[in-house]
Amino acid sequence: IEYQKHYYPGSRQQLLEKVKASVSEKRFAHILGVEQAALTLAEKNGVDLEQASVAALVHDYAKERSAAEFKAVIVQKGLDPELLLWNNFIWHGVVGAQIIKDELQITDEAILEAVRRHTVGAPEMTLLEQVLYVADYIEAGRDFPGVDKARELAFENLTQAVSYETKHTLLHLMQQEKTIYPAAILTYNAYVAK
Ligand code: GDP
Ligand code: FE
Ligand code: FE
Ligand code: FE
Repeated sequence: IEYQKHYYPGSRQQLLEKVKASVSEKRFAHILGVEQAALTLAEKNGVDLEQASVAALVHDYAKERSAAEFKAVIVQKGLDPELLLWNNFIWHGVVGAQIIKDELQITDEAILEAVRRHTVGAPEMTLLEQVLYVADYIEAGRDFPGVDKARELAFENLTQAVSYETKHTLLHLMQQEKTIYPAAILTYNAYVAK
């Protein structure tokens, strides 16, 4: 895919280099897998391909930043102080979007919101947001019980794939007695019966 610079001020290759420098090799491979899945889902669902590509390439850009950096961004940018009670799993999307905006000059609010929502979703997700949320879960490198069913649903019905992913992520977290980020429950309530 060749960027028309509607969503990123440089080429795809330039964005790839910045992302590669920001994450481990393993995570970079995951990110490329998410881009591939996102492009397929975007095509099927009438989402702009460049927008889907940029969203996928940056979605985990901040994943390896320190807790101290995330906390500093939350305070300095005046984000919800409740965020300070959470951890990297939640911060890399919700707070990571701010880091992406500042470091990569990505200003498209739809992309930034898709990044904010990529881990826990939201009750009313745009098609771009659903594409990223699902692509992150089903990219070719993912291997967990249920991933084949998730892939099947993703290519059949995007919203049902969102529902499946949300239910299974919550079940998985609860089985491990992990805390649930409140927004994840709102996503569950909105999508459980869809
Ligand atoms: P990744 O960044 O590609 O690994 O994928 P995600 O951003 O979707 O998820 C990151 C991690 O957050 C995963 O290990 C999820 O299980 C975890 N996670 C998702 N939702 C919640 C939640 O509500 N609470 C907590 N504590 N963790 C969550
Ligand atoms: Fe992530
Ligand atoms: Fe995810
Ligand atoms: Fe990811």
